[in-house]
Amino acid sequence: MADLASRITAPADTPAPEVPSAAVEAPVDGAEETNLVDNTYEVEVKLSDLQNDQESPLYSVSSFDELGLPKAINDGLLAMNFKKPSKIQEKALPLMLSDPPHNMIAQSQSGTGKTAAFVLTVLSRVDLSKPTQPQALLLAPSRELARQIQMVVQTIGQFCEGLIVEAAIPGAIARETGVKSSVVVGTPGTVIDLIKRRQFDVSQLKVLVIDEADNMLDMQGLGEQCSRVKSILPKTIQILLFSATFPANVMAFAEKFAPNANQMKLKQQELTVKGISQMYMDCPDEKQKYEILCKLYGLMTIGSSVIFVRTRDSAAEIQRRMEADGHKVTALHGAYEGANRDALLDDFRSGRSKVLITTNVLARGIDVSSVAIVINYDIPMKGPGDREPDAETYLHRIGRTGRFGRVGVSISFVYDRKSFNALAEIARFYNIDLIQLDPNDWDVTEKKVQDVIKSSRAKADYAPNATSG
Ligand code: ADP
Ligand code: MG
Repeated sequence: MADLASRITAPADTPAPEVPSAAVEAPVDGAEETNLVDNTYEVEVKLSDLQNDQESPLYSVSSFDELGLPKAINDGLLAMNFKKPSKIQEKALPLMLSDPPHNMIAQSQSGTGKTAAFVLTVLSRVDLSKPTQPQALLLAPSRELARQIQMVVQTIGQFCEGLIVEAAIPGAIARETGVKSSVVVGTPGTVIDLIKRRQFDVSQLKVLVIDEADNMLDMQGLGEQCSRVKSILPKTIQILLFSATFPANVMAFAEKFAPNANQMKLKQQELTVKGISQMYMDCPDEKQKYEILCKLYGLMTIGSSVIFVRTRDSAAEIQRRMEADGHKVTALHGAYEGANRDALLDDFRSGRSKVLITTNVLARGIDVSSVAIVINYDIPMKGPGDREPDAETYLHRIGRTGRFGRVGVSISFVYDRKSFNALAEIARFYNIDLIQLDPNDWDVTEKKVQDVIKSSRAKADYAPNATSG
């Protein structure tokens, strides 16, 4: 076991750099707890540091004003308290807003503001004099992500008079009325049903956005449905594809799906988010994983966390056992009905529940800024018989923390040769130095985790570099 572990063990014993005491978080009460510093003024200082650091994906030179967006949209950005665009927003927006419209394939790390980039484009293309005529269609892989994007369109678009935004997800569109909105955010299956039943007039659509595009265009999954949707839409529609990951095989298809697209790609070494400290827990065997998880929860009191497991059954089982041990947790997976799922995620978003146990349904896109820790209770696998490590899903899962410059911790549980090797392969793929946690030394484990969560920024990695100053 030890030799396997050593293959993925980074020199983890270097202590995390001390952070100045002023930057250490001191949560006041439950509702206010985040992994950012605890006062707004400081948060802004930290964020602007990041946005001035040329190496950061949040870096930008310009302001939103320079994009020449309508006043109503700029007012929406002000209401969101977005001061400066991130790199993806600054670079992709001028290309997407240009006339005649151009397709776009855009890649940027998790938590760097891809949503606002495409939402601003969508809003700028909607003719508000026809509010019930669908003009933009946004597709996402889960009902939760569709609802979240709908919220972002509504919030940034709150001063766009007349704007109507609907979610095309199971149970949301009344049969009698059909789709009666300017912007539609949905999942592919429901959108196809609505079109087939002639409840969704797609003839005037000007923009098609596909979020998590590599997942959505994957022929093993939703690719066929997305292609069907596209084949029914006007041929001149502007197509925008967004994701943090674009494996080469899907990229080739994406380029056919969105012909002649402008592209923003990341290099392999740029994929990981610096603010996320990636750790792994070396468990002696599968049985002890659960005890170790509970022990960990005894230590972790800051912010919210997400536990990813492989199956619905294990989600339910861990929920049952954690609840029996006195933890308040939420489990959300595909077995629940839509409305139930909405309520469960709302509980987590609001902080009423701090622990979310889930499957890959929520691996992508979900944005809850208070998430400080992500646990891979099972290493994500793919392919026939779950034989191959799923490096993309790993990156998306851990990307539920470390949103827009915040710090976070991911802890992946390994316990046998297969899980060790899978994680080692993922680590090699992204060239990451995983930090080992030892379940026999809880003092050190606690310190390693807490040092990150309590630091207000991503250690020395985020220090403004000499060239930018
Ligand atoms: P991604 O889709 O790239 O993973 P999101 O679009 O979900 O990331 O954005 C992550 C978080 O960053 C969200 O909470 C969002 O409100 C915030 N955000 C996005 N753009 C900005 C900005 N320009 N300034 C401040 N916060 C932003
Ligand atoms: Mg996203």
